Amino acid sequence: MQQKQKKYHIKTWGCQMNVYDSQRISEILQSLGYVLTEDSTESDLVILNTCHVREKATEKVYSDIGRLNLLKQRRQKIGQSLIIGVSGCVAQAEGEEIIKRAPCVDLVFGPQTWHRLEEMIKKIEEENEKVCDTDFPVEEKFDSLPTFFDKARINNGSAFVAVQEGCDKFCTYCVVPYTRGAEYSRPTWQVLEETNKLVKEGAKEITLLGQNVNAYHGVSHDGSEWSLGKLIDKISTIENLQRIRYITSYPAEVNDDLILAHKNQPKLMPFLHLPIQAGSNKILKAMNRNHTKEQYLDLIAKFKEAREDMAFSSDFIVGFPGETEEDFQETLEVVKKVGFIQSFSFAYSPRLGTPAVDYENQIPLDIKEKRLYILQDLLKETQREFNEKTVGKTMEVLFDRKGKYDGQLVGKSPYMQAVAVNNMSENMLGNIYKVKITSNYNTSLIGEIVE
Ligand code: SF4
Repeated sequence: MQQKQKKYHIKTWGCQMNVYDSQRISEILQSLGYVLTEDSTESDLVILNTCHVREKATEKVYSDIGRLNLLKQRRQKIGQSLIIGVSGCVAQAEGEEIIKRAPCVDLVFGPQTWHRLEEMIKKIEEENEKVCDTDFPVEEKFDSLPTFFDKARINNGSAFVAVQEGCDKFCTYCVVPYTRGAEYSRPTWQVLEETNKLVKEGAKEITLLGQNVNAYHGVSHDGSEWSLGKLIDKISTIENLQRIRYITSYPAEVNDDLILAHKNQPKLMPFLHLPIQAGSNKILKAMNRNHTKEQYLDLIAKFKEAREDMAFSSDFIVGFPGETEEDFQETLEVVKKVGFIQSFSFAYSPRLGTPAVDYENQIPLDIKEKRLYILQDLLKETQREFNEKTVGKTMEVLFDRKGKYDGQLVGKSPYMQAVAVNNMSENMLGNIYKVKITSNYNTSLIGEIVE
């Protein structure tokens, strides 16, 4: 009798690193014979790949588990099974607690153990045991990935490659060092091999990923360590690769190699996400950011000197404990000076297990919300101003999705602006075209193909 093909469903929250992890988890599951389904109700295995950064993340995961539990009970009544797995940063932070609180969960694994999925699933299926694996053996993870390679990782011309994981910086508001572990850089040859494969399969844009991507110091075959700048120099030589990006950078780890790569490598996009978080040195110190406002602005100047068309985005946290009105004004000053073209901004919310939870001078919610509103208003304005300046210019756009209207495609400019163009055919997806920008809708642009 022919065996029924097993199906898996994976739901991903959070950052690009989580998206990348989900892709690699998918590759492993496919190498084990599972096929992907978008419908969780028809799957044999569901994985919730979680993020711990945003507020109420854990509650959202438990509410999804509740829904899956109902499905599992229905299945059990007809003699069928469903494996429920929780991975990612909530899994890392909560560990066994998840199984205690939600006994329907069979599998809990952290961001550093997904390479052991085969053994974990076997244990559940053959020994009927619950599995919780939240160690931190990062090196092992990248070494033991299947040779199987999923072309679906390339999303209309773009693909991610993880080059670095973990964080040793311990910003006082952040859980990442506790959930992702210490900094680890993949060896250069692994990164180059993966990137080459992706480009051969059609990727035109590669984004190098890491929690502290510019802390990269991967070892090469001759034993020397390469910086991110040197790695980018090498990746730039890959034929048919047209765009290189990297995210997320830590200001205190920016070095001359990286700045020079922006000067010398035209494939490296002139856009950098460089989080400052706050503009006041007092608050930066309380956040344990290891950089001052002046040092940050100095870096911006150096990048611009290397490549004058560079533009920047940032993350901001407003209402960090102890933030006065003057401190907040300093953040606004930095925004005006740099003219960030896109940004993520949040009101500070305490994360259990981080030092800032216990700080005195927590800021009342109404003040945090008011400051966030003011900051976001200013950020919208700096974005609008930048977008306005691009009207009339011609830019290369990588088309990666369909637009709202029939025949409309949307793509990314070198600055990650969304650019919509009408009268396009679907087979233009995944390709780069020259586009003249004709109008600005503040957060997106409209353009037309230049022949
Ligand atoms: S640098 Fe700071 S904010 Fe970024 S991951 Fe590390 S601890 Fe978190």
